[in-house]
Amino acid sequence: MIRVGVNGYGTIGKRVADAVEAQPDMEIIGVAKTQPNFEAHTAVKRGYPMYAAIPERAPLFAEAGIEVAGEVDELVAEADIIVDCTPSGIGEQNRELYETHHTPAIFQGGESADVADVSFNARSNFDAARDADYVRVVSCNTTGLSRVIAPLEEEYGVEKVRATLVRRGGDPGQNSRGPINDILPNPIKVPSHHGPDVKTIFPDLEIDTLGLKVPATLMHVHALNVTLGDDVTGAHVRQLLEEEDRIYVIPEGLGIDGAGKLKDLALDAGRPRGDLWENCVWGESIGVNGRDLYLFQAIHQESDVIPENVDAIRAMFDLEDKETSMQRTDRQLGVGISGDPSGFSEQARAEFADDD
Ligand code: NAD
Repeated sequence: MIRVGVNGYGTIGKRVADAVEAQPDMEIIGVAKTQPNFEAHTAVKRGYPMYAAIPERAPLFAEAGIEVAGEVDELVAEADIIVDCTPSGIGEQNRELYETHHTPAIFQGGESADVADVSFNARSNFDAARDADYVRVVSCNTTGLSRVIAPLEEEYGVEKVRATLVRRGGDPGQNSRGPINDILPNPIKVPSHHGPDVKTIFPDLEIDTLGLKVPATLMHVHALNVTLGDDVTGAHVRQLLEEEDRIYVIPEGLGIDGAGKLKDLALDAGRPRGDLWENCVWGESIGVNGRDLYLFQAIHQESDVIPENVDAIRAMFDLEDKETSMQRTDRQLGVGISGDPSGFSEQARAEFADDD
């Protein structure tokens, strides 16, 4: 049983904690937070021991009625691994703390690639993280792109990827972010930094990306053009993507015409927090012109990286091979949307309930 600590219990950290706790081969031994906000109370309710990320603030937790198990230093010392889910740039500062205690750590995509030995996406380079001490799970956008590129590369070869990323302005709780009523080329400089980030997973890939930010909180939407190594048919590509558990090819006829309805689908199906761990590719958008493939996909920024963090732990401790780890993660969480999109997460859980 791998003993996992989560440092930074916000949008990503709280999801990682629940995902780890749902696995049979790992457990949460504590989470570290800076302040006793509503998420701290939820953590306590879920039975996660609370550690003070900033020791001087420990009394604030006591005042809020939250028992503190110790300081973050103690959590790092006790854990087999820390998943660092602090805001961008803080993870890099925390690396020294992890090194001091010889505790391996996973960082998130907001950190620069050199924070870790390996940038990770389970589908694309699981084995690169084997026995590594420091791994970075790439960003939500890079995860979404990598999951599509990997099967295309394996099946047809990829000559060049061009992707336009229409990015949500902020997460639902980030009410200080924007734009409120604008459409921003962001970054204005093209190509954007997203392409180089994808190259941390596929070093030899030709890829150019452009980014925009829009007044939305629900999901990102990618417009993709991939020049493949072979002439293909849309039907063949569609079948290939449908075989990927972490890609949901949205069937025609469901009336899912945007991110809002995708989120409704997840909530109706009883997904925790309305999460969509899968890339959501509109089946109708898969179009082919010779070797040029086009498609639209929506990426739930708050949750697509969560299964990847679980797989990174297994890779780092050499617990399972790639397929076994990904399957185990997926069935414990309920990842994978079948032909019947109603109640899919309960279905998946019930199906595999006796498995572990
Ligand atoms: P967040 O702001 O929602 O959560 C971060 C948490 O860390 C907060 O609870 C904050 O109080 C806490 N924190 C701040 N300083 C700390 C410290 N010194 N020690 C411990 N905790 C501290 O941020 P997030 O959205 O969860 O992002 C975390 C990381 O995940 C970032 O690298 C981000 O780029 C990456 N990421 C975010 C998203 C997303 O869409 N939210 C998607 C993929 C990756």
